[in-house]
Amino acid sequence: MAMNITAGTSELRDVTKMERIGAHSHIRGLGLDDRLEPRANSQGLVGQAKARKAAGMILKMVQEGKIAGRAMLFAGPPSTGKTAIALGMAQSLGSDVPFTIITASEVFSLSMSKTEALTQAFRRSIGVRIKEETELIEGQVVEIQIDRSLTGATKTGKLTIKTTDMETVYDLGMKMIEALTKEKVLAGDVIAIDKTSGKVTKLGRSFAQSRDYDAMGADTKFVQCPEGEIQKRKEVVHTVSLHEIDVINSRTQGFLALFAGDTGEIKPELRNQINAKVAEWREEGKAEIVPGILFIDEVHMLDIECFSFLNRALEGELAPLVIMASNRGMARIRGTKFRSPHGLPVDLLDRVLIVSTKPYTEDEVQQIIQIRCQEEDTQLTPDALTVLTSMSMQTTLRYALNLIACGKVVARKRKAEMVDVEDLRRAYTYFMDEKRSVQWLKEQQGSLVFEEVGGKEDELM
Ligand code: ATP
Repeated sequence: MAMNITAGTSELRDVTKMERIGAHSHIRGLGLDDRLEPRANSQGLVGQAKARKAAGMILKMVQEGKIAGRAMLFAGPPSTGKTAIALGMAQSLGSDVPFTIITASEVFSLSMSKTEALTQAFRRSIGVRIKEETELIEGQVVEIQIDRSLTGATKTGKLTIKTTDMETVYDLGMKMIEALTKEKVLAGDVIAIDKTSGKVTKLGRSFAQSRDYDAMGADTKFVQCPEGEIQKRKEVVHTVSLHEIDVINSRTQGFLALFAGDTGEIKPELRNQINAKVAEWREEGKAEIVPGILFIDEVHMLDIECFSFLNRALEGELAPLVIMASNRGMARIRGTKFRSPHGLPVDLLDRVLIVSTKPYTEDEVQQIIQIRCQEEDTQLTPDALTVLTSMSMQTTLRYALNLIACGKVVARKRKAEMVDVEDLRRAYTYFMDEKRSVQWLKEQQGSLVFEEVGGKEDELM
């Protein structure tokens, strides 16, 4: 199948990139200093020092391109910041490094197979940084990479030259002169390049008229700077994900599928062709691969087939860093009868860097509540803050954070500016936390549809 593989434009990526805001909108980074030491409360993150430091180290390796195709697992009780830290990592990455977030259950869909869904998630997490290609059109500003082979010089630089003359393209060898001689080269200047030593000399504009070329010997190449303006310009690059390139080139889907979000299955042959094309672009220096991060939340929800796919996919040449999170302790591996730590098969666990998160102290919880109040533009009275903190210690952090918005609604009803203890108390009676909900279920035993089927389910950590 002959085809023209195109990469699309960077605007498209904003449409498909799914970002969760809301619960984690206060997270702005990992809050580490230059030595990767976590600050107690910075960039929206509080405490959890060890996990943040570990995340920072891994991030550094990703940025240095050392850790593609590896996996890490955040393991810890619910509401201990596993997702928050992963999002902190995403915030610290450059804007063109892809970060994809999925919840394991999203893989189970009727419109595509599990492995296709995972493949798409993998390819969303690999960026292709494409250098802008330019063609010479009359009057267009073109960008030309200096050819170091012309002089054997090691220095190279990038300059832009305005030209309408194709011939000047060859002679643009002299644009390196500025870099080599550190002299300003003007249009019309003649440059001498010694073919053996590579030494470059600026002879100036008048040399063109002197007809003294022979005196310099046959080993010298003369170049006259083209008429036109030489100016420095920043290189323009686009980054698109491999998945976007797949979709744009998919005959059955077409790029409009990117807007609809439903891209369906993509044929393996097309992916192979795209991989080959991207490899070609890399060889020609037109593109670079940017391995990003794929975050899989609630990873214990994947089944044994998905785990086996992950094991293999991580070994592929084009694999991102895979970060998983689970709040399960010993749990059954879905699709098998076996139990294993975090519900992950041991061969996968074996290749994963495990980072644990721990429950917060009362002081840390209070700081997180304060950050969220700021984020939600809500003021608590000092008493309300103390009460909400202790509620959080007795229930969960997530429950307490949810009560901020509820408390605000209650306070507004009585036209108060600040949320007070009574508002929280009310909100607490309206909405049950997990413990009270379990208690209530016990009390209702027998009166609800679908009772438990018996057997011990996976326990929480
Ligand atoms: P689960 O296992 O239930 O998925 P989790 O460990 O992923 O939980 P998060 O969702 O990250 O927990 O945390 C719950 C809430 O608390 C979120 O709103 C999160 O942004 C916030 N949070 C958690 N840890 C921190 C922290 N260290 N600093 C600031 N906010 C935090």
